[in-house]
Amino acid sequence: MSVQDCIFCKIVDGTIPSAKVYEDEVCVAFNDLSPQAPTHILIIPKEHVDSLAKTEANDKETLGHLLISAAEIARGHGFADDGYRVVINTNNDGGQTVFHLHVHLLAGRQFVFPPG
Ligand code: AMP
Ligand code: ZN
Repeated sequence: MSVQDCIFCKIVDGTIPSAKVYEDEVCVAFNDLSPQAPTHILIIPKEHVDSLAKTEANDKETLGHLLISAAEIARGHGFADDGYRVVINTNNDGGQTVFHLHVHLLAGRQFVFPPG
């Protein structure tokens, strides 16, 4: 699939609307359309990367940025102390359905481990 057809690239450029909760020069965070918890936010890099499986050493800063942003959003929304779960579904066996790297930030209920 080309970047032109990527729904998350369209969310980055505003072609597809989203409920944004955070944005900076590197990433955008918005509410998941199909929430799996009371809070379910997706954090994506503005630059298209297919999946975690495609990242390399030069993506270190972007990957760090996504996780630090998750921690900041969690503090900002007031659920950091109660806790939350961060998930990166990767490729077919990982359950990835949208092939633009994204971090799920889930909170507001107790999560089980291992996930199904
Ligand atoms: P994954 O299965 O890890 O690839 O996650 C993709 C996520 O994107 C799912 O949780 C979907 O509900 C979510 N999603 C798909 N399209 C949209 C959209 N237009 N706006 C917000 N979330 C979306
Ligand atoms: Zn994309």
